Amino acid sequence: MAQAPHHSTGGFSTRAIHYGYDPAEHQGALVPPIHTSATYAFPDVAYGARCFAGEESGYFYTRIANPTLALLEGRLASLEQGAGAVVFGSGMGAITATLWSMLEPGDEVLADLTLYGCTFSFLHHGLGRFGVTVRHVDMTDPANVAAALGDKTRVVYFETPANPNMRLVDIAAIAALAHARGAKVVVDNTYCTPYLQQPLLLGADVSVHSMTKYLGGHGDLTAGAAVFADAELAQRVRLYGLKDMTGAVMSAQDAHLVMRGLKTLALRMDRHCQSAQTVAEFLAAHPATAAVHYPGLATFPQHALARRQMRQMGGMIAFELQGGLQAGVRFMDALRLVTRAVSLGDAETLAQHPASMTHSTYTPEERAAHGISEGLVRLSVGLEDVGDLLADIGQALDLALALGRAGAASAPAAPAAAVPSCSAPA
Ligand code: PLP
Repeated sequence: MAQAPHHSTGGFSTRAIHYGYDPAEHQGALVPPIHTSATYAFPDVAYGARCFAGEESGYFYTRIANPTLALLEGRLASLEQGAGAVVFGSGMGAITATLWSMLEPGDEVLADLTLYGCTFSFLHHGLGRFGVTVRHVDMTDPANVAAALGDKTRVVYFETPANPNMRLVDIAAIAALAHARGAKVVVDNTYCTPYLQQPLLLGADVSVHSMTKYLGGHGDLTAGAAVFADAELAQRVRLYGLKDMTGAVMSAQDAHLVMRGLKTLALRMDRHCQSAQTVAEFLAAHPATAAVHYPGLATFPQHALARRQMRQMGGMIAFELQGGLQAGVRFMDALRLVTRAVSLGDAETLAQHPASMTHSTYTPEERAAHGISEGLVRLSVGLEDVGDLLADIGQALDLALALGRAGAASAPAAPAAAVPSCSAPA
């Protein structure tokens, strides 16, 4: 009988640190070795033939499998309670390889209204060009999904919380509806990580991640992962989506860095969540804000759902400034500690103003259609001392408000409208 992987039981952090690795099998090395070999020697031709026939599970080429990547995959599957996981060179690699493997021409994807820009772009400009239909519904109400599911719907796709406006989707409710119609559910769990939310336990079929964010945790790598409830689907995505369709293989050095990040994931997420709650309450009480979208606020319309499906409320906040686009630009330019940057989940607190940055090429109407108001700011609350964050955010809000009231600032012209690229990285 096959032995269970080392430390396959135990709590979340115990598995994040130890799962699948026994130093005694590696000359006592505490840190797992990084296997950089692209190819693997076959002891004889017959063994090689068995590998290619899928009768041997040995390694033969890193684009398909590699011992360092396999250790990370085992840890991710364990942390999210999946039957298997596949890692990729970026979050978009994970999303594209997974969806390519699940869909055929003529199939339909039902997707939420709010999606990360490059995912939206892939659905429409990628899949759409190959005979897959994409339809969007507002998935914050499961009744919309029930009404929209059709005979051709193969995949239901959403993020929760959604990037950038923090809307939540009820994973268990949508999974029940989709499965009743024979569709599979893919959830982007990047904002929560396996520590805060476990989509597969709530009924989803696949949980995808940009590991560039919290899982890596230090802003020094790009990587992605897909965790599967079904081992067969995991294998199809590995052999088709990863090996043949995208080739989006992750480097072993980056897998080592993600495993280092995983060791502190729970600690970091606890701190991100605690600081984000403090920042969200501060923002909500400030006269410069018109609205604050954070699942941990009692005023958040889906607060009850957040408490039901998330362990804690996360490190991401979206808020709307009184004064729209110009207030957003003033706020962003006034920040001194908080960094103006896309991406999220790093130790550094990052701020993003879609209307003047990632979505500046959209018209205001197009931004509104994507659920992005002119004064919307996205904060990824980092690990700095929260008092320093409040001081910086406070002075920037005060300035945005004062300039707005005085009408003194030379208002920056709204960026010229252009055809939306829908490819905003964020
Ligand atoms: N999913 C979400 C929610 C994201 O925010 C991002 C990137 O910002 C991605 C997927 C894509 O990840 P990557 O940049 O690692 O390709």
